[in-house]
Amino acid sequence: EFGEDEGDEEDLAARPPVVTVMGHVDHGKTKLLDALRSANVVAKEAGGITQHIGAYQVATEVDGSERRITFIDTPGHEAFTAMRARGAQATDIAVLVVAADDGVMPQTVEALNHAKAADVPIVVAVNKIDKPEADPAKVRGQLTEYGLVPEEYGGDTMFVDVSAKSELNLEGLLEAIVLTADASLDLRANPDQDAQGLVVEAHLDRGRGPVATVLVQRGTLRVGDSLVAGPAYGRVRAMLDEYGENIEEADPSRPAMVLGLTAVPGAGQNFIVVEDDRMARQIAEKREARERAAMQAKRRVRRTLEDFMKSMETGETQELNLILKGDVSGSVEALEDSLAKIDVGDEVSLRVIDRGVGAITETNVDLAAASDAIIIGFNVRPQGKATEMADKEGVEIRYYSVIYQAIEEIEAALKGMLKPEFEEVSLGQAEIREIFRSSKIGNIAGCMVTSGVIRRNAKVRLIRDGAVIVESADLASLRREKDDASEVREGFECGLVIRGFNDIKQGDVVEAFEMREIPRS
Ligand code: GDP
Repeated sequence: EFGEDEGDEEDLAARPPVVTVMGHVDHGKTKLLDALRSANVVAKEAGGITQHIGAYQVATEVDGSERRITFIDTPGHEAFTAMRARGAQATDIAVLVVAADDGVMPQTVEALNHAKAADVPIVVAVNKIDKPEADPAKVRGQLTEYGLVPEEYGGDTMFVDVSAKSELNLEGLLEAIVLTADASLDLRANPDQDAQGLVVEAHLDRGRGPVATVLVQRGTLRVGDSLVAGPAYGRVRAMLDEYGENIEEADPSRPAMVLGLTAVPGAGQNFIVVEDDRMARQIAEKREARERAAMQAKRRVRRTLEDFMKSMETGETQELNLILKGDVSGSVEALEDSLAKIDVGDEVSLRVIDRGVGAITETNVDLAAASDAIIIGFNVRPQGKATEMADKEGVEIRYYSVIYQAIEEIEAALKGMLKPEFEEVSLGQAEIREIFRSSKIGNIAGCMVTSGVIRRNAKVRLIRDGAVIVESADLASLRREKDDASEVREGFECGLVIRGFNDIKQGDVVEAFEMREIPRS
């Protein structure tokens, strides 16, 4: 249902980027979100008082044309990660706020790791430049070490100096967001279909009942539409924008507060518009059952090395994400360096999405759960509720005290993740001398094994006059005299039945072969 076809290329129209603001505590995320919101009220004729509905849109002018940007109004990476853990990717661009008087701090690094793990481009807002002790150049230098190289130094990350408090250069930040979106993302959606999107925030309002702020991702949401949002459903009675004003419709990337739902959905759950109320109720009920089952299943899921090996076999995963924690920075670096040297070819990749010194925290587990990563603890233990949470989320934490042991195990897992390569090994041939018709098990070929051996569990190929008639089939039976045989050797007679193939002829040749795994060095 969700993620249905969006139609043809020409049905897609540009949509605004959706932005999340992240960064260290007290670096000014909330202040920046407030400043951007209120700065935009001036641009709006109505000039109503902005409300916190969970997301808002601003307009700015870039190269002479009006461009819109949607901000998720919950600062921090917790909400972002919680949504990702539900499988929702709400954010197109992350704004990383760094206070210029404080520089890069632990949660700055955490935030940028979250954004990188989600493959979301980052714009850096160097905040508090009104302060005399602000040192924006230092921030640029520090972040370069984390792979965010400023454009002015030849990199591809835009850094913008701002002051949320003095409302300095907010336009510059908006422009950088638009330019980053234009440079690295192709943000388009079909506005002419039933709406789909995400719940950003929801609560029970005493007067209005359940209210949910949704972000339209595709299509256009209209008053009167029947929708299902997570396990909640209902007909849209009214929609309000971030100024508390009634709106009739919401197009892609537009946040809207929806009234009329029967229950309160969860943040990060998706919504879809369906034909009518009856359908909405049915889907919601099914979803609720599925959600419950999924919650139970999730408790059983373990994100383990073995899981990765299994999912690799089925082609689901080519990437092993790791979070490294160690007692001292030297050991973390040594671990990461050695991991980088593991050669697993191009098919599989190993990503260290976060690393750090100290105990394994709940935030580490959070990121691991959202990114399907496993945590490597080197001479460290979990703290607080981290173990409990890892159990609940099915995140594996592996502990080591010897580096080479960690490397060996991860290397083995990665090699296991490589799809095995097989080669064909011919076992032997038999010639069909007589045919016995049996309605029960199919035509039986009476054969003489002319070379090698025919095995019961081998694959067989049928050759007629030098041409291959059947490329690969199983044997339904192999007998020597009246007894079932596991193999029959050269010079002996046997009776065999090829599964699913009855059109055998005298003089046909049956070749037995096996697929053997080619060992990797
Ligand atoms: P958050 O924890 O990242 O959301 O940070 P806040 O937005 O709550 O800001 C933390 C403190 O820094 C508050 O006292 C803000 O007033 C102050 N602050 C935020 N932005 C600026 C700024 O640009 N300049 C100055 N001087 N102070 C700021």
